[in-house]
Amino acid sequence: MDVDQSVSQFVAAFGRPPAGAVRAPGRVNLIGEHTDYNDGFVLPVAIERQAVALHASRSDARVMFRSRQADEPAEVALDDEIVPGEPAWANYPKGVVAGLREAGAPLVGCDVLFDSDVPVGAGLSSSAALEVAAAEALLAAAGARREIADDELVRICQRAEHAFAAAPCGIMDQSIAVMARAGHALLLDCRSGETRYVPFDLHAAGLALLVADTQVAHAIAGGAYAERRSQCAAAASILGVASLRDVTDRQLADAAADGVLDGVALMRARHVVGEIARTLHAVEAVTLRDWALVGELMYASHESLRDDYEVSCPELDAIVEIAEGCEGVHGARMTGGGFGGCAIILADAARADAVGERIASGFAERLGRRCPIFMTGAAGGAGPVTV
Ligand code: ADP
Ligand code: MG
Repeated sequence: MDVDQSVSQFVAAFGRPPAGAVRAPGRVNLIGEHTDYNDGFVLPVAIERQAVALHASRSDARVMFRSRQADEPAEVALDDEIVPGEPAWANYPKGVVAGLREAGAPLVGCDVLFDSDVPVGAGLSSSAALEVAAAEALLAAAGARREIADDELVRICQRAEHAFAAAPCGIMDQSIAVMARAGHALLLDCRSGETRYVPFDLHAAGLALLVADTQVAHAIAGGAYAERRSQCAAAASILGVASLRDVTDRQLADAAADGVLDGVALMRARHVVGEIARTLHAVEAVTLRDWALVGELMYASHESLRDDYEVSCPELDAIVEIAEGCEGVHGARMTGGGFGGCAIILADAARADAVGERIASGFAERLGRRCPIFMTGAAGGAGPVTV
């Protein structure tokens, strides 16, 4: 992203230069899909795409939000009640102001301009990048970043998305945006909240992660998500456990053999139990730099999401199938909730351009248009940037 351009835009919008700038990355989930609400594990990686927030404090108690990706500006009075409203995009940063204030963070009036190269609505978590950039900017403007611990910042941003944007998201997106470490993936235990950094230095390993955007968001996604959640809860209750996290392969096989679980309930449970195991297995494989095994686990994850969990779509399947036929590809899978969004491809860096070209043209042959593809390493988390 060209931050100089964002600076010019700030000057044009607010009539003075910014005092500072902060950034927060988008993310992909390497593996561990639809496991978060089953108390399982996820393994996100921050991408080299980010939201930047330029800021300068004001002499009054107002916060002015603008975004280069949105037309309408928004305003928040720090000494007034903060409620969601229009423009809709500003509800994310507004919710962050409300959360920081509730947490007792010292806030000052400021002008904030957001600029982001995280594709919006593509499942790469542009929303968490926006929230975390907002929080970092507000705290930086007040000189108060140290007053809020990282885990509290994560929860404030998550709550902003729940309460102000009506999106009941898990903790993954905000956690990785805040906590990511360059050259690492982040193993997150969604039951205990515990985290562990897993060395995943793609550049040093001669690898690249390609992100291919189907540019579709199928309308059934919202309803299907709620339905999957209740199917999982129902399967856990039949098995007499608090969540599918507590089910072993053995228990699942017995339940299937005895007819305790069958049909759709069995398919859903099989995905979740298998995916939790695959995620932990992938952590070992990444640690051992066994890229062939990481790739196998990615393919297995995709197949399970496609066949047992039924959340893939023709566009995602096409990308994974084409990738599988390319030399230099270790693995590929859909990433995110499904029914559109993006697929990720783990490939040798030396072959990455050719792989990207092959996927884009193969996708075009099947779907009649090219899908945007970009390459990324494992980026670092939120923090200041120099302007
Ligand atoms: P995702 O997080 O997968 O990109 P979401 O639907 O969760 O998709 O969040 C997308 C929403 O976040 C957008 O509709 C918009 O309201 C807001 N958003 C994200 N980035 C920006 C930005 N740079 N400027 C304005 N709004 C943004
Ligand atoms: Mg989001």
